[in-house]
Amino acid sequence: MPQHVIIEPFRVHTVEAIAMPGRDQRENALQRSHYNLFGLHADEVIIDLLTDSGTGAMSTKQWAGMMLGDESYAGSRSFFKFDSVVRDLTGFSEIIPTHQGRAAEKILFSVVANEGDVIPSNTHFDTTRANIEYQGAEARDVVKHEGLDPALIAPFKGDIDLDALRATLADPSINVPLVMCTVTNNSGGGQPVSMANLKGIRALCDEFGVPFFLDACRFAENAWFIKTREDGYADKTPKEIAQEMFSLADGCTMSAKKDGLANIGGFLAVNDSDIAAQCRNILILTEGFPTYGGLAGYDLEAVAQGLVEVLDENYLHYRIRSVEYLGEKVSAAGVPIVKPTGGHAVYLDAKALLPHIAPHEYPAQALAVELYREGGVRGVEIGTLMFGTPQEEGPDLPAQMELVRLAIPRRMYTQSHIDYVAEVVIAVAQRASEIPGYRITEQAPWLRHFTMKLEPLS
Ligand SMILES: *Cc1c(COP(=O)(O)O)cnc(C)c1O
Repeated sequence: MPQHVIIEPFRVHTVEAIAMPGRDQRENALQRSHYNLFGLHADEVIIDLLTDSGTGAMSTKQWAGMMLGDESYAGSRSFFKFDSVVRDLTGFSEIIPTHQGRAAEKILFSVVANEGDVIPSNTHFDTTRANIEYQGAEARDVVKHEGLDPALIAPFKGDIDLDALRATLADPSINVPLVMCTVTNNSGGGQPVSMANLKGIRALCDEFGVPFFLDACRFAENAWFIKTREDGYADKTPKEIAQEMFSLADGCTMSAKKDGLANIGGFLAVNDSDIAAQCRNILILTEGFPTYGGLAGYDLEAVAQGLVEVLDENYLHYRIRSVEYLGEKVSAAGVPIVKPTGGHAVYLDAKALLPHIAPHEYPAQALAVELYREGGVRGVEIGTLMFGTPQEEGPDLPAQMELVRLAIPRRMYTQSHIDYVAEVVIAVAQRASEIPGYRITEQAPWLRHFTMKLEPLS
């Protein structure tokens, strides 16, 4: 078999037409949505790389599984299938289904986090950060320094800075209810975390008697990076590696919309039965009975099957390579990106590409808008709009990086779609110096990027 082209390890079974809005339609859509790409109708987008969350294609086996869904309110057969797959994978004893990842976060933090607590992680995802802050606690990012340098090539840029973590844990004035680690580090370029680092976190948590939780959304992609980059793992299966990762933690939050290969779903898993009991009480209040947790029985079936398929080596090989392929194409044309490419997305470095736009004029949003204008490609800003700190007076405090994330939905787009995206990115980069910055005209007090309105600076 020729080894150069890594083919999609599936063939298309059902097709969905792509909308092809023209330039005028795209221009009107930008104005109507106040330059917030979350305000676009999906039919106004040609290639949608807004997120890899819940947007992937399900397999024939997942669709078949959905027909087996048991919709019993309590004790559904589909729950027990889901429960056994999640237990086998994670080793955790208490499995609590939720409708998506943030519901697991909301429940966990309302049980464990109090006013003034500090919760460290490599980089908290936006919903995780917001759920922690909503409890009056601090979400503290302690990613290793190399994780903040987009151009630096290193194998595990998602690793936690263990010295910074130790300093937080050792500070007697700080209460840390748990330590988190996001695998892969979504808001830090989708960079993986090494097994060695997870072991280091475990050791520190043991030393200070603090529980350790994974934000496990992309556990399979992280396992693949460990297999291909970390000594001693080449001969292990992705499943064995994932099991080892989970064995180092006391629990996890999970969005099954990522490596669950499902369109909806998530779970919270813990070993501590007291925490589990408190979490289930809130679950009943907000999500539903513990054997469905806000999901239909058929959703539980889709997630159970997805968690098995995602660990297939052919799938992971293709998945990681297809992201790398887009990164190589735009990078070869001189477009600055976060290197090496992460597991689920290519992150364009807007700070480097648009040095004429100050952080508080949102260079990454400016770039995202141009990608849509140029070719109907929708990405998302991960910069000062999402992670900056608004001030009562004067400009926002900037985020650490100004990135546009082009997230690749799982098993959905083919190589020619990706070639098209590369063409659009390169065309925009060629007129980078003409791109204007933006100012905010309306914003919400948290997670403002979803609903804010903007206008271009002239
Ligand atoms: C998507 C995501 C979440 C939240 O999950 P939802 O299913 O969108 O609520 C949490 N953490 C990370 C790292 C994510 O990527």
